[in-house]
Amino acid sequence: MTALAAPTPAQAAPPAVAQTWNTLMYRSLTRQQTAATMQATIATQKATVVTRTSEVTNATNAGILAESALTTATSTDTTAKTRVTAAQTALTTAKQNLTKANKKKPRSTAAITKAKNAVTAATKTLTTRQAEAKQSGTALTTAKTNARTATATLATAIANRDAAAAAVTVSVQKLALLPTAYSLATQATGLSRDVVTQTRAGFAVADTVQVYGITVHRSVAYAFKRMLDDARANGIVLSGGGFRTKERQIELRKSNGCPDVWSAPSSSCRVPTAIPGRSLHELGMAIDISQNGKTLTRTSTGYKWLVAHAKAYGFINLPSEPWHWSITGG
Ligand SMILES: [Zn+2]
Repeated sequence: MTALAAPTPAQAAPPAVAQTWNTLMYRSLTRQQTAATMQATIATQKATVVTRTSEVTNATNAGILAESALTTATSTDTTAKTRVTAAQTALTTAKQNLTKANKKKPRSTAAITKAKNAVTAATKTLTTRQAEAKQSGTALTTAKTNARTATATLATAIANRDAAAAAVTVSVQKLALLPTAYSLATQATGLSRDVVTQTRAGFAVADTVQVYGITVHRSVAYAFKRMLDDARANGIVLSGGGFRTKERQIELRKSNGCPDVWSAPSSSCRVPTAIPGRSLHELGMAIDISQNGKTLTRTSTGYKWLVAHAKAYGFINLPSEPWHWSITGG
């Protein structure tokens, strides 16, 4: 049984600083879309605030109506209870009158009948008043419940509106704090030397990818591709050679007539060629750029375009070689 081998450094992901460089350049080059998305979000959130505010208005109006209905119900119920008391008093009086009529001598049948009828009428009135009071009591309970519900609904509506308004504030602040494309690209460029040093320490050919047939390190591939795409959109079609192995660098040192493969300075070669192990081509982080099949010169439109724009993509020119562009300018 074979244990699964842990990845060697050469197989591991690019160093964190290279990934940070890539992320910063990505954020810089997509900054405009990010801002547009955030602005669209803010517009949606503002529309939500309008909706929530109108819900607060509706809930406020419903609350006023519920309070008014409660006041009316309270008053109706108080009146109904007063009328029950009055009917009870009237019945008591009618009963007393009947007792008096029964005791009166000489006995008056007409007066007794009249008193009996009065008791019957008062009893009937009390029953009616009690039924009315029961009804008004139920109505009052309902009005109280409605008023409580309206209060709770208003509180929820206010909380929702405040939350919606707070969300707008957060988004507006976030947008205000969104770094500029320039600032993000400048941050990335500030890391470029560390990117080179740390990438060289654990470089693997597997870390390279193809961009329009040019082999570059995957950490710079997005920015490099965007640079070629944007140049092409401006009528500048660029091609070139990026990654090369150390073996190929050694061959070039020989063919370019460097006095010594391992020690002579780059400038001492017929065509400037970095000492093997020091070239950014060996990391796929330098590209020799050509236009219409010709290596760039200082008069090429491609060179002029790059001078004006390459920095925004994290690429810098080596002044002695107008065709050589890398993330450090080395
Ligand atoms: Zn080069």
